[in-house]
Amino acid sequence: TKDQWEVDPAELILGQEIGSGQFGLVLEGSWRDRKVAVKMVREECMSDEEFKEEARIMMRLSHSKLVQLYGVCTQHSPICLVFEYMDNGCLTDYLRERKGSLSQDILLGMCLDVSEGMAYLEMSNFIHRDLAARNCLVSKNNEVKVSDFGMTRFVLDDQYTSSQCSKFPVKWSAPEVIRYCKFSTKSDVWSFGVLMWEVYNEGRLPYENRTNAEVVDSLNAGLRLLKPRLAPDSVHLLMEWCWKEKPDDRPTFGLLFHELASLSDA
Ligand code: ADP
Repeated sequence: TKDQWEVDPAELILGQEIGSGQFGLVLEGSWRDRKVAVKMVREECMSDEEFKEEARIMMRLSHSKLVQLYGVCTQHSPICLVFEYMDNGCLTDYLRERKGSLSQDILLGMCLDVSEGMAYLEMSNFIHRDLAARNCLVSKNNEVKVSDFGMTRFVLDDQYTSSQCSKFPVKWSAPEVIRYCKFSTKSDVWSFGVLMWEVYNEGRLPYENRTNAEVVDSLNAGLRLLKPRLAPDSVHLLMEWCWKEKPDDRPTFGLLFHELASLSDA
């Protein structure tokens, strides 16, 4: 049928609230005998019509290292997005809760998982635009998956969408994104470098005590985040490669995946 992405509300059972995000509440639920996470989208937060169009593309993206969108429920307000359920929650919290107990293999494995999901998005010519540990989720068997890809385009709050404003994720953004909102797979690669830094700092906030304006100044002066204590030189080199000023000088996700995989075999 033409509405393959439409979830029948009669098949969707809603449960407890598990979080709240940019667009509204997130509930646990079940759909066709599987556990799901349901994002209830407050109308004033999202440009609806554009999103419905895009949801079709997002549903075609399917990979073991991406949080799967199963469908959307658009018949009633609020619109609901039905996702694969991720038992271990967001990566930032997961890292913080396990601080001091994560082995080198596990830290590297997390970066490898994310690079694999991102290599798939790269191949699919899909730009994430908001890659960060907070937008990755952890499954029951501790796999890390990329979530929320492409979603910032539908946020109507301009506090979030303009780089001059308070909620814009400046600390994860490439210089060309901060300067001219030029998003690309290479700006995702920059953000991936910051995500690796978060992983090896066990969920610490990057540039903790600095304002966005101070971060911009230090980037312009050529400064970068410092090597995390837990990061081997080989991993730190990859981070720095992601933070090259010129997008073309940064690696592809395909290459990053390959490099991280060879480190994990070593
Ligand atoms: P938004 O992207 O709209 O800001 P989030 O994706 O951050 O919202 O969701 C808020 C919280 O809801 C997350 O931190 C996480 O705890 C929970 N959550 C979101 N998606 C899922 C999911 N697929 N499985 C389990 N929990 C989820």
